[in-house]
Amino acid sequence: MADNKLMVWIDQDLCTGDGICQEIAPNVFEGRDDGLWVVREDASHFGTTIVFDGNAAPDGSRGVARVPDAELADVVEAAEECPGECIMIEPLDPEAIANRGA
Ligand code: SF4
Repeated sequence: MADNKLMVWIDQDLCTGDGICQEIAPNVFEGRDDGLWVVREDASHFGTTIVFDGNAAPDGSRGVARVPDAELADVVEAAEECPGECIMIEPLDPEAIANRGA
């Protein structure tokens, strides 16, 4: 299991759909069919891939992905470059992670 101290989510209401985040961190960000972007946990870090697309797993503020320490610099860069300012990085909250599937 990957070490992780932070989590990330996207406010899809503010996403412009340019895809810059995925260009920078393709293991953490993924385009959805409706042209908005969502977060993901990749199997290379977590053993199983989960895409927080509002179908297989919740999106928005409940679709929080754990950020592997190895991806942290790229995730921070993506948040800095995001024109919608909608990539939210927060300290890992075990309760929020546990509630993702509820
Ligand atoms: S960089 Fe920001 S605005 Fe652009 S697709 Fe990603 S989340 Fe959306």
